[in-house]
Amino acid sequence: MPLAIRGGGHNVAGSALCDGGVVIDFSEMRRVEIDPERKTARVEPGALWGDLDAAAQADGLATPAGIVTHTGVAGLTLGGGFGWLSRQWGLTVDNLLSVQVLLADGSRVRAASDENDDLFWAVRGGGGNFGMSPNSNSSSMP
Ligand SMILES: Cc1cc2nc3c(=O)[nH]c(=O)nc-3n(C[C@H](O)[C@H](O)[C@H](O)COP(=O)(O)OP(=O)(O)OC[C@H]3O[C@@H](n4cnc5c(N)ncnc54)[C@H](O)[C@@H]3O)c2cc1C
Repeated sequence: MPLAIRGGGHNVAGSALCDGGVVIDFSEMRRVEIDPERKTARVEPGALWGDLDAAAQADGLATPAGIVTHTGVAGLTLGGGFGWLSRQWGLTVDNLLSVQVLLADGSRVRAASDENDDLFWAVRGGGGNFGMSPNSNSSSMP
């Protein structure tokens, strides 16, 4: 069955949707946890950049993101992520530490530079629907 994932819902190609299939909608999973000591953020799969910015700014922190607060953290990061802070601090993916990935067999793995590094490489620019199969004419299929 075709499957699609919706994060912030801002992909203009409509990759968050599929015809005749199932859309996994993360839009109510938007929690953000900031660790001010380590200067890190942990976000749920439907968090928007406005959610992350609001939480981070309370501790005087920021990270490169897009220019619009209502794009999704996950979706924008999958595409690289370029915004106001990028000229000084790089792309969003340059600041990504790790991801939790749910595999097709239902297992969950951590991907980072020291674990599943090939998967970590792929999600840093793999774009929307990496590992998904929403429909045959999706423009963002890797
Ligand atoms: C108004 C506007 C402004 C933008 N500005 C910028 C900008 O300044 N900088 C920039 O770099 N980009 C920008 N973009 C592009 C934007 O980053 C992409 O469109 C991105 O795909 C949006 O992500 P989303 O989560 O909001 O969208 P969605 O449509 O929800 O997601 C896009 C795809 O990402 C994948 N995805 C999303 N969430 C998850 C998840 N939790 N787990 C697994 N896969 C997931 C899915 O495959 C989904 O199909 C902008 C887009 C718009 C519409």
